[in-house]
This record gives sequence, C-alpha cells and structure tokens, in this order.
Amino acid sequence: MTTSHPSASSTPKNCKRCKRIFNYYGIGHMYCPSCLAIDNEIFERIKKYLYEHGTATTEELSAATNVSIHQIEVYLREGRLEIPANSNIFIKCELCGAKLRSGRYCPACASKLSHTFTSSYTYDQNEVGEAAPSQSGKMHFLSKD
Ligand SMILES: [Zn+2]
Ligand SMILES: [Zn+2]
Repeated sequence: MTTSHPSASSTPKNCKRCKRIFNYYGIGHMYCPSCLAIDNEIFERIKKYLYEHGTATTEELSAATNVSIHQIEVYLREGRLEIPANSNIFIKCELCGAKLRSGRYCPACASKLSHTFTSSYTYDQNEVGEAAPSQSGKMHFLSKD
C-alpha cells in the first residue's frame, strides 16, 4: 500500500459541531474526524428511517430517530438529505420561501444568485434544492393500522 498524502490543501478549520480546530482538506463536510463519525451515524439513522417509512413529518422523523429537528434541517439544507417525493417534510427556500425537498435555495433563486455576483450569497451546487410539488395544505398520513 502506498501512502499518498494529498498535502496540497489542508486548511485548519473549526469543526462545525464541536468548534475544535482540525485539518480540512476541502472536501466533505466541515466536521472534525470524531464529529464526522457521530454525524455519519446520525445521518444513517435518518436515511434508514426515511427509506423504510417514506413519509414522515419532521416531528415524526425527529421522534423516531432521536435527532433534533434542527439537525434534520441542517442535513436538508446541506443537500445531504433529500425529502422523498411522497413526504410531507418540506423546507423553505431561504430567499423566496418556496417549498423545497432539499437544499437552501430553489432553482429559480439559485440561478438568480449565480447571475448576481455582487451578492454576498455563495452556495454549493448541492444546496440548490428541488422544488417540492405544490400540495394543498393538509398533510396526509400513511395508512397504518
Ligand atoms: Zn468536531
Ligand atoms: Zn427561491
């Protein structure tokens, strides 16, 4: 085994979760190795639940996985988690409030942003969410007996 060490671009960053400084290599998420392990475990739990249950509200998801609603929204905004097509969980575009299945911005706002270089908004491609289908107010539930 050869140890190829991309010494290229490691930058010290503060871990998003524990605020400790660690070497960030410019890929992946901004967690230190130990938080990354915790984070992955939590993330897998959410993913598994969504695959198994498909439809859940943020509250249900949070209760079932023991992950805070805030944390679930963070995953959605990071584009790591996408709301299944038949789900009732939605997050809102940070600019226009359109319902999204993931990300921070709706495609329309993202394309506006990319043309506005004076804007201080920067976003990652996976922060651009897919717009949610418009649904009439009420949530529907899975028929479970
Ligand atoms: Zn950390
Ligand atoms: Zn928008």
